Formats: sequence, structure tokens, C-alpha cells
Amino acid sequence: MQRVETGACFCGAIAAQMSGEPFWVCYDHDDDCRRAIGSPLTIWVGYRPNQCRLLKGTLSSYSKTQGVVRTFCATCGTSVGYSDEGLADELYLTIGFFDHPERFAPAAHAYWDMKLPFVQFADDLPKIDRYSRQRDPSLGFPDGRVKTR
Ligand SMILES: [Zn+2]
Repeated sequence: MQRVETGACFCGAIAAQMSGEPFWVCYDHDDDCRRAIGSPLTIWVGYRPNQCRLLKGTLSSYSKTQGVVRTFCATCGTSVGYSDEGLADELYLTIGFFDHPERFAPAAHAYWDMKLPFVQFADDLPKIDRYSRQRDPSLGFPDGRVKTR
């Protein structure tokens, strides 16, 4: 039987169903996501868009970085998704959106160089200083947001 996961925002206005296995799950320590989500880090669960079905509500969206669209609930503010023209056919959902977040196991750390110093991990997962996925280089890199070491 195919795996089915469900998710909802804090107020319940948005609900969605995801079918099949996610292709990628990773920690993300970057500063844009930190601010957008309001958390020291997040975990993104990556699906193909055709695996995801919105069951209820309408997502609002915001884009600050070229090619990147973040979606959220306009009523309660819950961050829901991340899509990126540079990551074709990939849709990422925040771990907090899922009804059963304990079912996902991150496979890597992205933007490890932006990890906050008081956040500690004892895992042996790959620690990558930038995107953990191959992003289309023709979109460029949003330099303005990259911290210097
Ligand atoms: Zn909501």
C-alpha cells in the first residue's frame, strides 16, 4: 500500500495530503528560512508536486529571492512550502506542517555554515555548506543574503 501523509496548518484552514515516499528530507540552517519560518532551523520534506494534493484552503505566497516561492496560511501564518525554479519538479514542505513529523528522518544538513552556534548535533549526516540539492546555476546565487564567515 502506498504511503500517505497528511498535513495541516496551525488553524486548520489549510490541509494537504502527500502520497508516496518523499525523495529528500534534510535539515536546513540558512538565514532566509530561519527568518521566514521563525525557527533556528527547519527540516524540509521534499516531494514531487504531483505527489501533493491540497485538500482544504488556499495557500498564500511570498517571493523575495528570484525563482523562490514560499507558501503559508494567511490566517494563522504557518509556513507550508518552498518551491524554486532552480529545483525543477521539487516541492518542499516544512516538517511542522505534517500530522506525523516523527515519521521522517533527515538525510543531511544544508547550509551548515549558517548553523547557529548553540544548536548542536551528534549525528554523522553529511554537512553541506550550501544547497543540498543541485540548483540550476543559471538562476545565480542570491549573494545579498550570504553571510561572510
Ligand atoms: Zn492556518
